[in-house]
Amino acid sequence: MGTQLSPHFNEDEFRCRHCGQLPAEGMAPELITKLEVVRAMVGKPLIITSGYRCPTHNKAVGGAAKSQHVLGTAADISARGIGVDELARAAERVGFGGVGLYHRQHFVHVDVRPGRARW
Ligand SMILES: [Zn+2]
Ligand SMILES: [Zn+2]
Repeated sequence: MGTQLSPHFNEDEFRCRHCGQLPAEGMAPELITKLEVVRAMVGKPLIITSGYRCPTHNKAVGGAAKSQHVLGTAADISARGIGVDELARAAERVGFGGVGLYHRQHFVHVDVRPGRARW
């Protein structure tokens, strides 16, 4: 059982799907704090479909070489009964650096990069 990072998120939810690793420095605290706010806004548990990705896994899933997932600063999220647009609006209000909408796969990518990226 992994360490509880915040009231609603456990580090196990963010482990690399391929090897179970976490970043050496752990997940970025700012990411977890902001995810808690999104959860409170939508009023539903967030499902973390991708958190940390080790470089090997990131390459395998076709992630960008400098993917925020490799840095432990990103998560792909969904929530039962909440649309991608609604989830993205919440993420926008919380002030994530990066927000990416994936309508077809039904998730929203969020990250705490310095600066702003939207897709
Ligand atoms: Zn891995
Ligand atoms: Zn992502």
